[in-house]
Amino acid sequence: MLPRKANSMKTLETILRNDTMHWVGDGFPVRSLFSYREEADRISPFLLFDYAGPWNFEPVKGHTRGVGEHPHKGFETVTIVFDGEVSHRDSTGGGGAIGAGEVQWMTAGSGVLHEEFHSPGYSKTGGPFRMVQLWVNLPARDKLTPPRYQAITRDMIPEATFDGGRARIVAGAFNSTIGPASTFTPINLWDVRLVADADVSLPAPDGHTTMIAVLSGRITMDGESVGEGEIARLTRDGDGVALRADGDAMLLVLTGEPIDEPVVGRGPFVMNTEDEIREAIAEFNSGEFGALAPS
Ligand code: MN
Repeated sequence: MLPRKANSMKTLETILRNDTMHWVGDGFPVRSLFSYREEADRISPFLLFDYAGPWNFEPVKGHTRGVGEHPHKGFETVTIVFDGEVSHRDSTGGGGAIGAGEVQWMTAGSGVLHEEFHSPGYSKTGGPFRMVQLWVNLPARDKLTPPRYQAITRDMIPEATFDGGRARIVAGAFNSTIGPASTFTPINLWDVRLVADADVSLPAPDGHTTMIAVLSGRITMDGESVGEGEIARLTRDGDGVALRADGDAMLLVLTGEPIDEPVVGRGPFVMNTEDEIREAIAEFNSGEFGALAPS
């Protein structure tokens, strides 16, 4: 057997962007930066990246902006709030608020009903709003796992520092810093801030799908410039990422071991076969997803 090539950097494969914004309910001005509908195999184990904002909401009285009761089945939704505050309520009896710097890792698994709104406090004050909702696939063996939440608060997220910046480790590991999120397949999710004009190299597992979302500022990678609202998708080969910040930059780094299984989705359901999708729709229509906890 040949020895593995050590210390090879991942290279830029493509830049994902979407200039078309759509509203999810009346609370989330979303650009879908990638979706399994376009290229499930290249982004696995991730399914969807909805970037909501940046936006400025005016204060509102007697109405809460957001999206009402809807189901999910077969995957996880990961909500990362940077500005603003989101409230949720679901059919497992759970509910709460996700504030700036916090993450909610929801495993829909066998099926959940929930609603997502601006929190009452944020609705009253208004102000800057920016969040990401990432959909993470579950392997076939875990698609029917019981629904659960991981409410990941600011104090639970450790920070790693490196030459040129710092990273809050939500999931996975950055050298010896371990993130709190429990995942079904190996995943890294890091909230990264770079100092102005830093040249940095970050570890990233060989074989993982690797994507770097730029949430503010601009970076250069392999001679290409990647700006706000764009995602650099890198090669799976290689065990590191080299980039330069052009000014300050704020990034979300995602890596994950690909799940090599068919992806069949319709709306809020993502399964492995058409039959499983029909089953999910039938379950939802017959009320098997339960009901929302009383507010
Ligand atoms: Mn939802």
